[in-house]
Amino acid sequence: MRALVWHGANDIRCDTVPDPEIEHPRDAIVRVSTCAICGSDLHLHDNVMPGMEKGDIVGHEFMGEVMEVGAEAKSALKVGERVVVPFTIFCGECDQCRRGNYSVCERSNRNKALADKLFGHTTAGLFGYTHLTGGYAGGQAEYVRVPFADRTHIKIPEGLTDEQVLFLGDIFPTGWQAAAQCDIQPTDTVAIWGCGPVGQMTIRSAVLLGAKQVIAIDRVPERLAMAKAGGAITIDFEEESVVERLNELTGGKGPEKCIDAVGMEAHATATIDSMMDRAKQALMLESDRAHVLREMMYVCRPAGTLSIPGVYGGLVDKIPFGMAMNKGLTFRMGQTHVKRWTDDLLNRIQEGQIDPSFVITHTVPLDQGPEMYKTFRDKRDGCIKVVLKP
Ligand code: NAD
Ligand code: ZN
Ligand code: ZN
Repeated sequence: MRALVWHGANDIRCDTVPDPEIEHPRDAIVRVSTCAICGSDLHLHDNVMPGMEKGDIVGHEFMGEVMEVGAEAKSALKVGERVVVPFTIFCGECDQCRRGNYSVCERSNRNKALADKLFGHTTAGLFGYTHLTGGYAGGQAEYVRVPFADRTHIKIPEGLTDEQVLFLGDIFPTGWQAAAQCDIQPTDTVAIWGCGPVGQMTIRSAVLLGAKQVIAIDRVPERLAMAKAGGAITIDFEEESVVERLNELTGGKGPEKCIDAVGMEAHATATIDSMMDRAKQALMLESDRAHVLREMMYVCRPAGTLSIPGVYGGLVDKIPFGMAMNKGLTFRMGQTHVKRWTDDLLNRIQEGQIDPSFVITHTVPLDQGPEMYKTFRDKRDGCIKVVLKP
């Protein structure tokens, strides 16, 4: 089959590789009809995530048709059924899965012991990500093996296009969880840093969850325009002081809820100049790392919540923790417990409350995937979300 394969930094190729096979009775094989490139895939492309190996098949946003089902998954899944596959693989039986904490499933990461030893922590198994998260082959491919397939799937009813439901596997529940974890009240202002695909889903979720005011921050014109179309007031962080604008828009009090939909990328793009004169504590923080996190902590209204869907790896330093403590801030974060949210979100799509396909700007055959990684990373051609057709 054809698949997008990791060969090293800036080197993802469309290769011919062996078809996947059932390896365990709970597996299924899915023929991928549609898949997408995620901001998290860029961390692999740019080689800032440890644990990749030459030959790894990438991709964790995908859907398709069930082709083959292992003996122990047969009662839950039938050949021919159409499914979206959650990017967090989960067993459904361990203590964390029973609590609905699927992204920290204790059994689905087959390299858990290695990750614990090297990292001191672990997540659930993830598709098309590093060997520290299980090293499972990804879904930017014609076929994919789905482990724990009897639980790790979302069945799709008739009458919905791939584009309408594909994002149930990651960015829609990711944006939703980021907003839902803020426990949004009708009097709340929600500020969202980052208007990439995750930020866009977060904006629409915060609007659906009834925020008084949603403010979105980025510097890419097309992304700011899409945020505005979704109901947000926008701030271009290259043009104006984020902290000053947020204070202005909240009568000097600051947003009650702040969401970081940027993640590690902020390390490279940080412009702390925009907050220097206001954030006295930030003056001590000469490092530009964790800029978004610091900006959120500084501007968030006391007793507010910071929600962080943006992905971080390793250590992030120069965090004004005393400020967070004295302001009584709440932090919520993590990989998304995809399946916790998807019954509700599928209903909302069916009811027409939202059509997540609004975020798609590019649809191309799988073999154009490698160049699309670069277009998406560099935000060229108005690129916001790339969908691939194997
Ligand atoms: P993306 O890279 O397309 O979007 C990031 C956006 O942040 C860009 O539009 C960029 O211009 C903007 N940005 C950069 N620096 C900024 C700053 N200082 N202030 C405001 N905006 C800034 O990626 P994406 O697909 O939207 O993903 C965003 C993050 O979410 C990534 O870290 C990704 O790994 C993460 N993610 C997490 C989960 C999860 O389960 N928690 C799931 C999917 C993606
Ligand atoms: Zn993702
Ligand atoms: Zn589990």
